[in-house]
Amino acid sequence: MSDTLPAMIDPFGRAVTYLRVSVTDRCDFRCTYCMAETMTFLPRKDLLALEEIDRLTSAFVWRGVRKVRLTGGEPLVRRNIMWLIKALSRHLGGGLDELTLTTNGSQLHRYADELVDCGVKRINVSLDTLDPAKFRVLTRWGDFDQVMRGIDAADRAGLKIKINAVALRGCNENEIADLLQWSHDRSFDLTLIETMPLGEIEADRTDQYLPLSLVRARLEQRFTLHDIPYQTGGPARYVHVTETNGRLGFITPLTHNFCESCNRVRISCTGTLYMCLGQEDAADLRGPLRASKSDVPLHAAIDEAIARKPKGHDFIIDRTATPAISRHMSATGG
Ligand code: SAM
Ligand code: SF4
Repeated sequence: MSDTLPAMIDPFGRAVTYLRVSVTDRCDFRCTYCMAETMTFLPRKDLLALEEIDRLTSAFVWRGVRKVRLTGGEPLVRRNIMWLIKALSRHLGGGLDELTLTTNGSQLHRYADELVDCGVKRINVSLDTLDPAKFRVLTRWGDFDQVMRGIDAADRAGLKIKINAVALRGCNENEIADLLQWSHDRSFDLTLIETMPLGEIEADRTDQYLPLSLVRARLEQRFTLHDIPYQTGGPARYVHVTETNGRLGFITPLTHNFCESCNRVRISCTGTLYMCLGQEDAADLRGPLRASKSDVPLHAAIDEAIARKPKGHDFIIDRTATPAISRHMSATGG
């Protein structure tokens, strides 16, 4: 396949250069804001095979995607995941600038060195609290010490680590300054995320929602924050923290419209393409992928979908309403 296929430009002139791929909807944790404890997962036969994920992702690389992030569910619990990562790494230095993943850290102690061998340079690790007891409550099934061992292994292996923390009212809100200090002491960037209304969970979203404008104001009582133009190709806005000499990002899908510069699309573990995290509209790519050995029908389906990429999302957190988007974050990977 040549690398001269036409770029994917949406109706608003935005080039799609960033692809997030959910490799599984399964997870070894059950974070309270993400999943119900009794989540039912998709039948395995509905999932794309790893070879199909490779073919689909490669098609996007040929169409101009320069950054691929694997996510889930927990990407590192998918069986043979390193086969996929190794396969995709062949694009690095060709069409692809970056191959990365977002993980809960539980399997990093096993895979950190192999990830580095595959050309992965940076990873995001989700960690919402440094308190082992609270970590247990929040993740339901997670083992804090195992995650810490994973983070240590990733650090030792030379992976650049960004910690992602969801700001949760009444849960970690009094710990965010400590999380910032800890991350920066270890030379990790920290990004804070607002909760998004995705999927049915047991808790009430309005109880969990904590606006980052408030978090920022509180942090400014202890730290000096300066806005900086730093960009990673994602939706975070960054500040430099004078006291720690580190970087802090804010992802605020609800308090800001973060869509103007949206350059990304998502593929679910069943091969559904989501043009926007906050909209239901989607395109099935598994059908065209399986229909033919040729990628021609696949590229036609991609073109049709990109032509429908919406201008922005419709998130609203409303106590009386069902979730703005009924699918869980673990289906599309956030
Ligand atoms: N299991 C991996 C992990 O936790 O990093 C990857 C998948 S997880 C769905 C990706 C990110 O989405 C995590 O940082 C998680 O905290 C975040 N997330 C999950 N549900 C969310 C929600 N409803 N609102 C905001 N962020 C959410
Ligand atoms: Fe699993 Fe990540 Fe969702 Fe937590 S946030 S339940 S680790 S997919």
